[in-house]
Amino acid sequence: MPAQPRVLVVGASLAGLRSAEQLRSAGHTGPITVVGAEPYLPYNRPPLSKDVLADQRATTAADLAGRLAFRRRASTADVEFRLGEPVASADLADGVLVTVAGRSLSYDGLVVATGLRPRRLAVPGPLDGRHVLRTVEDCQALREAILTRPQHVVVIGAGFIGCETAATLRSLGHAVTVIEPAGPPMARVVGATLAAAVQRHHERTGIRFVIGAGVIAFTGTDRLTGVLLDTGEEIPADVVVEAVGSVCNTEWLAGNGLDLSDGVLTDNQLHTGSARPTVATGDIVRFPNPLFDDTPRRVEHWSTPTDTAKRAAATLVALLAGEEPAPVVFAPVPSFWSDQGDLRFQSFGSPALGDEVRVEEGNPEHLAGGLLATYHHAGRHLGTLAINLTADRQRELRAAFAAPVPTV
Ligand SMILES: Cc1cc2nc3c(=O)[nH]c(=O)nc-3n(C[C@H](O)[C@H](O)[C@H](O)COP(=O)(O)OP(=O)(O)OC[C@H]3O[C@@H](n4cnc5c(N)ncnc54)[C@H](O)[C@@H]3O)c2cc1C
Repeated sequence: MPAQPRVLVVGASLAGLRSAEQLRSAGHTGPITVVGAEPYLPYNRPPLSKDVLADQRATTAADLAGRLAFRRRASTADVEFRLGEPVASADLADGVLVTVAGRSLSYDGLVVATGLRPRRLAVPGPLDGRHVLRTVEDCQALREAILTRPQHVVVIGAGFIGCETAATLRSLGHAVTVIEPAGPPMARVVGATLAAAVQRHHERTGIRFVIGAGVIAFTGTDRLTGVLLDTGEEIPADVVVEAVGSVCNTEWLAGNGLDLSDGVLTDNQLHTGSARPTVATGDIVRFPNPLFDDTPRRVEHWSTPTDTAKRAAATLVALLAGEEPAPVVFAPVPSFWSDQGDLRFQSFGSPALGDEVRVEEGNPEHLAGGLLATYHHAGRHLGTLAINLTADRQRELRAAFAAPVPTV
């Protein structure tokens, strides 16, 4: 190993940036290069379904990326960013990546931080009028589509991004219909009873929900004019937003013996097990969290890149020094927030793992007035959901999150 091992970080978003920062904090003084498919420095995605989508001022995707760019810490001033240069393939045994442009990049240590892209519906019909929301380009395209006049918008998928998008577009005066085959909004995370209450809340603002129906086609010739459901109903649409989940950006890692069945499988230290030191961070990493059990899971929350980058950097620095990573159990408390109109959701732990929901405070019929729910399995408190509680109260709830942190 050279005196100054070279680290490549693939993926120039939040996880890539945090990984570079944490490598410096963990004492890595060698060269770090961050290679990113997007042509922008890392920027913040959550506003893309919230205030940036609601902002009607004319702008460009590049301006949005500039406005949302993360502040660069002094410790990463010498980190090289190669942007607009997707990695096409990797040879993890030899430590060489090849970019789509055909450039070879060699490394001693690798951080995989390539995140997700939106899943698309495989149904027939015109493409024009169909949107997704992950990048500043996606957001800009959707902003332009809705800017000119009130539109009939159909949001497909009632997960967090679907609900946020629906609430934002409704607040701008568009006619919004949300279609979800699986059940009421966000039911997998918040539970059926609260999901039904959230649906009623959004319905009172004028959003229409069609639950239990699937999309079988988009109607129209050159441009879509509607969405055809398996119930036979056709919903008029000028604009469709597909918010039907994500696909992990792992294709470039194929052929290296990694488990890529759902993101990148690692151990609890975020090490992939490759002979040449390779760790994964952010939305893409699937790791066991002993806070809950030993099942590896991916966690698509904004807090995950920061939590995982810290652990992964410590692991990589140790491996690059030829040492075993310190046997410290990695047990981060997942947390996310979601803004949907006048509702702010904040969660700690993993409500989705609970099968018993207890409403501790508040009235589900008046969510805007504040609500606290806890989620349990076999008597264990696994998650907390707060709706419209104060920041102080949220801090208390986070601190009080009851799951015990295991020791080695
Ligand atoms: C619209 C929206 C709203 C959100 N709102 C919230 C919220 O309110 N609360 C919350 O907790 N979380 C929210 N999130 C989730 C949060 O933004 C993500 O968890 C976070 O962005 C994950 O960061 P990441 O770096 O792991 O992945 P990503 O942000 O997906 O970044 C991965 C990067 O890797 C690049 N890449 C992919 N393939 C390659 C390749 N082959 N070569 C080089 N580069 C590659 C991609 O272009 C991308 O830039 C939201 C996400 C979106 C999209």
